[in-house]
Amino acid sequence: MFPEFINLEYLSEIQQVIEGLAGIRVSVFDSNGRVILESINEDPVLSFVTSSETGKAEYNSFIEDNVKKAILRKDITISKIPTGQYLFFVPYHLNDVSLIIAGGAFYLSDDDYKAFISDSAYKYHLSFQQIESLSKKIFIMDYENIQRKSLYIQKLLGSTIKNGYERKLYKEKYDHVYTVIRLLSDSVEDISQEKIYSLMSDALLFIFNIDSMAFLSESGRIFRTDYSAGRLKGSIDGLSFNRNSWIISEAIKGPRPLFFDDPADIRNLGLTEAFESVYFFHFFSEKMGSRFLCLFNATLSRENEEEILMLCQILNLFSAAVSSHNNYNSRLKEMTTVNLAMSKLNLKFNKPEELYSSIVDTAVSLSNAERGSLMLADIGGKELCIKAVHGINKWLVKDLKIRVNEGIAGKIYRESIPVVSGDIEKDFAVRKKTVYKTNSFMSIPLKIGDETIGVLNLSDKISGEIFNKEDLALIFSFANYASIALKGSSYYSLAEQMKELSITDSLTDLFNRRYFQDRLAEEIDRSERHSLSFSLCIIDIDDFKLFNDSEGHPAGDELLKRLSKIIHNSLRAADVLARIGGEEFAMIMPQTDKDEAYFVAERIRNTVRQQLYRTWKFYPKENITVSMGISTFPSDETKSKKLIWKADKALYRAKMHGKDRTFAWEEQADVGNSIA
Ligand code: GH3
Ligand code: MG
Ligand code: MG
Repeated sequence: MFPEFINLEYLSEIQQVIEGLAGIRVSVFDSNGRVILESINEDPVLSFVTSSETGKAEYNSFIEDNVKKAILRKDITISKIPTGQYLFFVPYHLNDVSLIIAGGAFYLSDDDYKAFISDSAYKYHLSFQQIESLSKKIFIMDYENIQRKSLYIQKLLGSTIKNGYERKLYKEKYDHVYTVIRLLSDSVEDISQEKIYSLMSDALLFIFNIDSMAFLSESGRIFRTDYSAGRLKGSIDGLSFNRNSWIISEAIKGPRPLFFDDPADIRNLGLTEAFESVYFFHFFSEKMGSRFLCLFNATLSRENEEEILMLCQILNLFSAAVSSHNNYNSRLKEMTTVNLAMSKLNLKFNKPEELYSSIVDTAVSLSNAERGSLMLADIGGKELCIKAVHGINKWLVKDLKIRVNEGIAGKIYRESIPVVSGDIEKDFAVRKKTVYKTNSFMSIPLKIGDETIGVLNLSDKISGEIFNKEDLALIFSFANYASIALKGSSYYSLAEQMKELSITDSLTDLFNRRYFQDRLAEEIDRSERHSLSFSLCIIDIDDFKLFNDSEGHPAGDELLKRLSKIIHNSLRAADVLARIGGEEFAMIMPQTDKDEAYFVAERIRNTVRQQLYRTWKFYPKENITVSMGISTFPSDETKSKKLIWKADKALYRAKMHGKDRTFAWEEQADVGNSIA
């Protein structure tokens, strides 16, 4: 029913990404409203209601109607379901296939939940405890936000399905190249140039369904057939072209191969009628000079062309190995390593980060380097971000970004030319950073087609020698596979767009800063409309830097997770908790005045203190404590920025008074202490 590339496995991947990162539950339906993939996370209200026969029937017919509506409208629809929650329906059309992604189950406000309860509690036999416990788990989002999320999902769906298609193409390409390398490195006991040609041509004839082919190399400014294979082998053996001929000088220009299928052109080349078309692929190495691969009577896609150019590079590597007999064995070992590295990269990675690390680790071991890093350009192509490192402290470079018009990496990225340098200070007129031992490094641009997507850097050869051209050639060919793998991971569109879509923080699962800001603005609106007050509380861990310094950053992360859970579990139903900074949290407490907020905050502070006692080795304090600052709407402030500012100042005062305490904003006191 679906085009081959929209398979279930792939759809479920998309679904999981949306659910996991955006914290939104989504299901996939076919055009008749039948469920193809059920949401992984259950909505507590929905699953309660649909556990009864009537509830289930009502819900199903509602879904069916809305799926049809969305398909007819060919546009997003957002509807209120019998539970008072809102669901969005995002249609996706491709040729004659339609899919619907349905998601959400958001209440616009508490009031909607209350209305549902008062209307239907008796119908579903909801007990008081059930009402209370469900109320803690409901998801509130304003209408605009739901619209925005569904739009994102629509865009995402389009680009991921397209990506899936490309991924399939790239996987094929990868498999082809891999097969050839395996052939070459499997049978290399007695390898010779002739043998390399023969293995390569077997692979080409077979994989690309090519009729006939020839390798041409130059001697005395004439390119002659070095090796030929296929049906018309006999007629190609005597081919020769002058270096000055038009065809050779055109073909050398590259980067795409020359192609002829006009009978007159074919005859001009000195070929008989048996030849209908010919491709000229040019490839060059320092050892062997310019060479040509001619393919006769072949039909190639653009992807095939790229694959073949890649194979030509591999051929260069093997040729180089053969011509330098001395280090042939070590070369061979390296080729096997590249081979292994490729099979590793071909594994499916759950997270882009795993792929990034694997690329750096492999490049480091291939080049015998001590350090390496992978940088990828952001979407606008303005900055390079470090995605993975080896031999360099991860935390040192965690948020480091490099503008593309700065530094060596920026230059490599801009100019897209690989570089090997024996002396960074001499070649680039820069001072070597102290983390590096030697002055030698390699930088290789990562390219997908014509687009440069990042830079792979390697430095400090373990042996203390400097990197040479052979090292560069090896890494260069590896960089090709790395790029393919990156492209295959569709890290760009998916990972980056998901960040936008995301409302939760990946470490703690709490809401993130962006969502907090949206929510705060909403709460101000709502409270203004109904003349209510609410309070904002900012929470900062005491001496957390010391904790990190004594227990290590990973232990710090673990603590952040535990602390988040503890605070989250002590919230009241309507309170919203977000992680707004590294170790800073914000809590919105609707319909809560200053005194009550103080009371709630103190309760939370004591819970933290009681539950986080010494399980650590080096951190000197017996408990983890937090300090809190509170500001209240509308008595302290009515604008969000100032509310945050005042809560911050109150927090600052709590720190000044010895930490492990809660302060609410007081005009006189805080102005005096402010360090604005
Ligand atoms: P104070 O009591 O005055 O708040 O002292 P502090 O040490 O907590 O100081 P501050 O709030 O300025 O320091 C925040 C520290 O939190 C700095 C950084 O090492 C740590 N931190 C920030 N984000 C993270 C994170 O995501 N993980 C870990 N492990 N540590 C983080
Ligand atoms: Mg802090
Ligand atoms: Mg702190």
